[in-house]
Amino acid sequence: LYMTFDDGPSKYTDDILDILDQYGAKATFFVMYQPDYSHMYKEIVDRGHAIALHTYSHDYASIYSSDSAYFRDLQKISDYVYNQTGVRTNLIRFPGGGSNTISRDYNYGIMSRLTREVENRGYVYFDWNASNEDANGRAMSWQQIRDAAIGYRQQEIVMLMHDTNAKYTTVQALPSIIEHYQARGYHCLALTEDSETAHHGVNN
Ligand code: ZN
Repeated sequence: LYMTFDDGPSKYTDDILDILDQYGAKATFFVMYQPDYSHMYKEIVDRGHAIALHTYSHDYASIYSSDSAYFRDLQKISDYVYNQTGVRTNLIRFPGGGSNTISRDYNYGIMSRLTREVENRGYVYFDWNASNEDANGRAMSWQQIRDAAIGYRQQEIVMLMHDTNAKYTTVQALPSIIEHYQARGYHCLALTEDSETAHHGVNN
């Protein structure tokens, strides 16, 4: 089980790290620029998790305005993470995932180009094959998040979750999700460049 937390760090990252420690679980944090929590980037690394690049701004209109705009944003978060942690990672996740359609509003065909070009540049991009549904638009109780998360049976589960100030129920649900999978023999691991990438079909 590869748990992945997007959009952090947040005021809850510390709680998430404590829960992960409690269960001997590792995870991956696809981070963005969150200067209020600048001390957490290194904390993620020091506690044995994978830090990975999501986006600097998370502003779809600017990121997907052109190929060069995308790579400028990616370089900015790469440099920021490097400065905070000393880690230069090549693990990335596109804002909205490789399958996003919102980029069509800004640049037709950009995802078809970027999904190839990031690999040419040595990055490994990850989508997901499971989700706790904590970003589905309405407020989810922790029980709803747990129930969404525990239905998967793939051998390698890459689960989308979020680490933001608006998602406390995600934190509350985490122990029961980990317990569920550990009881079924899953190991909770951090992504590496050799892991399942769970790529989606590209829609733009
Ligand atoms: Zn995101």
